Amino acid sequence: MSRKFNNVVVSIQAHPDDSEAWNAGTLKLLKEKGYHIIIATMTAGGMGGIGSNEAKTIEIRLEEAAKAAAVLDAEYYCFEGRDGYLFDTAEMRRRVTSVLRQVNAGIVMTHLPMDYHPDHRVACNIVEAATIVASLPNVPVKEKALEVTPLLYHTAPIALTDPIGAPIAPPHFFVDVSSVMDTKREMLQHHHSQKELMKVMHKMDNFFEVVYQGNKDYGAMVGVEYAEVFWQHLGGGFQRDPQVQEDLKEFVKFLK
Ligand SMILES: [Zn+2]
Repeated sequence: MSRKFNNVVVSIQAHPDDSEAWNAGTLKLLKEKGYHIIIATMTAGGMGGIGSNEAKTIEIRLEEAAKAAAVLDAEYYCFEGRDGYLFDTAEMRRRVTSVLRQVNAGIVMTHLPMDYHPDHRVACNIVEAATIVASLPNVPVKEKALEVTPLLYHTAPIALTDPIGAPIAPPHFFVDVSSVMDTKREMLQHHHSQKELMKVMHKMDNFFEVVYQGNKDYGAMVGVEYAEVFWQHLGGGFQRDPQVQEDLKEFVKFLK
């Protein structure tokens, strides 16, 4: 009997390294449960270079992203938006819907609507819009409509605040990723180019350590060593089946 939502998860974030930073541990746990994993980025991160021009940076970062995805035997797609200049266009929405249909997506993950980074917010809009129509036959893409609209989940950056510093709604659930931190570290380490960039951009000495500390802080909120956090998209047009929460039930924690 086939399940209502396919065991195919597509993590679509704005930049190479976003999936690795925000939800790679959970992707690894889903892979161990038999899910097929696809990692996609809206841009190739061309502005994220220090000492390399945009074209060269794109080349470097696509290679880093593909290597990181390969750790999970995941396919990697880039939707070729421009880093820092990502716009929500009909073409970008169509590209995302096409890929969701090609891979028969059951679960989609993307940024929060109120994320700190403008590209993340735009990526979230594109992904939500492309997902909600994935099962509609009149959408102008050549791939056949999905039988069911995929479930949509949102991931978080380090701080649980919106762009003006106000606290956002607590995560719907936490995933204990303590047992898969080695995999997450291995994936993130492929993004060598970002260590230098984050020193300049955010004055972070070690971006990777900042990410791990974030996972540690989330873990402390629910009594585990390291955690990632999620919100399920519960707005109209999406179903509310808690498939990820149930498939990862031994790892899922809730705030008391
Ligand atoms: Zn990003």
